[in-house]
Amino acid sequence: MVAEIDRKALYAISYGVYVVTSHLGEKLNGQIANTVIQVTAQPPRIAVCINKANLTHEYISSSGVFAVSILDESVPMDFIGPFGFKSGREVDKLSQVKHKIGVTGCPIVTDYTLSTLEARVINQVDVGTHTIFVGELVAGEVLRQGRPLTYADYHEKKKGRAPKSAPTYRGEEIQNESEKKEVAEIKRYVCSICGWVYDPAKGDPNADVPAGTPFEKLPDDWVCPICGAGKDQFEPYEG
Ligand code: FE
Repeated sequence: MVAEIDRKALYAISYGVYVVTSHLGEKLNGQIANTVIQVTAQPPRIAVCINKANLTHEYISSSGVFAVSILDESVPMDFIGPFGFKSGREVDKLSQVKHKIGVTGCPIVTDYTLSTLEARVINQVDVGTHTIFVGELVAGEVLRQGRPLTYADYHEKKKGRAPKSAPTYRGEEIQNESEKKEVAEIKRYVCSICGWVYDPAKGDPNADVPAGTPFEKLPDDWVCPICGAGKDQFEPYEG
């Protein structure tokens, strides 16, 4: 008998959010990963699970080294976005963030980073779509104090909902009927790829889209500022 699998059972596993980087000679790349774990204490070893299709996978496989930046909970989506949703084959991600080169030659991202780790691969496991790289720690540094971002928090933010405790929370701000009507008429749209929400009240100043521009009036070549998805990847936002 095969027991039925309720995949929701997996949702209760908790993770962090990390930038995992590597290099291939002079070429540098990094990506967001939620699967970094310490696997032994003596000697200290860590593991990371990386999709085989990713450029970072190619670099770690070749160089045998990787670095990890443990992100602070204050990290904004527009910092995570380029690392999580764009490929290093198309953009030089490291050129956009503060980093230094570590003893392994890996770029180490220092923005919004609590601490950093560098490891040399000592083993790897092919798990199908991904490879688990196990590395011996060769360097580690604490950059600042703070609370690490959790994967659960990241998903909350991904949906564009600020918690009630956040200064950016907007849910209770609508005080009268005319304001409600105005908001209803100019709809927000959410990116189905990365979860970023287009808010007509704000526009997209970086793309010269003024506040008050309805989604429908955005230029056809406008793309999601976080992940680069086209307009057709957006859907009405019910949040
Ligand atoms: Fe997006």
